[in-house]
Amino acid sequence: MALHLERSQELQQRAEALIPGGVDSPVRAFRAVGGHPPFVERAEGAYLYDADGNRYLDYFGSWGPMILGHAAPAVIEAVREAALRSTSFGASTAAEAELAELVTRAVPSIQKLRFVSSGTEAVMSAIRLARAFTGRNRIVKFEGCYHGHSDALLVKAGSGVATLGIPGSAGVPVETTQFTTALRYNDLDEVETLFARHPGEVACVILEPVVGNAGTILPEPGFLEGLREITRREGALLILDEVMTGFRLSLGGAQQIYGITPDLTTLGKIIGGGLPVGAFGGRAEIMDMLAPLGPVYQAGTLSGNPLAMAAGIAQLSALHAAGAEFYDRLAETTRQIADGVQEIAEELGVPLVTNRIGSMFTWFFRDSSDSDVVIDFDDAARSLTERFGVFHRAMLERGVWLPPSQYEAAFVSAAHGAAEVEATLAAAREALMVAQ
Ligand code: PLP
Repeated sequence: MALHLERSQELQQRAEALIPGGVDSPVRAFRAVGGHPPFVERAEGAYLYDADGNRYLDYFGSWGPMILGHAAPAVIEAVREAALRSTSFGASTAAEAELAELVTRAVPSIQKLRFVSSGTEAVMSAIRLARAFTGRNRIVKFEGCYHGHSDALLVKAGSGVATLGIPGSAGVPVETTQFTTALRYNDLDEVETLFARHPGEVACVILEPVVGNAGTILPEPGFLEGLREITRREGALLILDEVMTGFRLSLGGAQQIYGITPDLTTLGKIIGGGLPVGAFGGRAEIMDMLAPLGPVYQAGTLSGNPLAMAAGIAQLSALHAAGAEFYDRLAETTRQIADGVQEIAEELGVPLVTNRIGSMFTWFFRDSSDSDVVIDFDDAARSLTERFGVFHRAMLERGVWLPPSQYEAAFVSAAHGAAEVEATLAAAREALMVAQ
């Protein structure tokens, strides 16, 4: 069952001549799974269409933003209308406060926020604020959590190439990461030890409240609560990076589901409706340290871009209007897909661990002798990535496009319905036999 990707391959060659690896973000190159990445021409609802005319059921949703499905009419109309009034002003517009209201209404811990153009920028700025507010330098993160590609955070960032305090990318000076400590996710003892070793030094603890960037990993009961308690006791800030989980797991994100009030939150992906938007926000007294009110500098030529604000307003308005029922429906569809494949795998004797929450899930391919839980990056890293690659290719050949790495969460959108569940289970049954 071979895919015809001739046109995509031509386009790949053309891109490779000018763009490293032919991609503007590395995971798109399919290096982790093998095979050729299709070049996308358009998308609608739950489906992507490539340059060779192939159709794929989409389970990566542009890495998270497309919760309503592709080309949602309300979002497209809002962008079209905004574009007719020009694409950027570099001056304030009413849309910025309107989107800010939609965010703060959903996430009450955010009293004030600022828009930027990516999740990376949002996290960078939140870290700078945390350091300025506390007058401390050290930041604590967790292995397998990804917080964008800024220097100080490329430590054990999803790919797990680095050890404690050592950069995870060439070109990052060791000095830049000397204040970054990466601890084991779901391990409060390591956090207590770190604080005991560095009293009064930690500016903030930052984490994905539900990890998506090591595959999906859920917080164990008490982990987030423990972090809140320790950071409060030690005078450090708690930053929840909800770039992926914000408006994905519920209208109020993971913090609503787990009942945790962070000092700062970072957002991205969904809040831009597929256009480049990030945001960071939280307690007003911290946010008011930003220029022009305070001494923390942060800026952006395209921050608050009118097209991005329009897309965000349309998408968040739709989510507000749809309410909790919308998220229940997404979670139920995800349960049918994720658990349905888990059942088929059990039937076929393929060891699989399925982690899921809301509309995020991961199938971890395991060795039969390995444990049947994945609660930290070390667990995830023992997955059989080659077998995942075979499964990925077999699914793609059957018209289902999963995220091209074992260490990425899959996403379900509102456009995934009963027909898509059925098609996915049928494809997975065959693909699991190939990957057996
Ligand atoms: N934080 C988290 C949790 C993410 O998942 C990502 C991107 O995947 C980022 C930050 C970085 O966002 P961006 O790719 O928009 O810079």
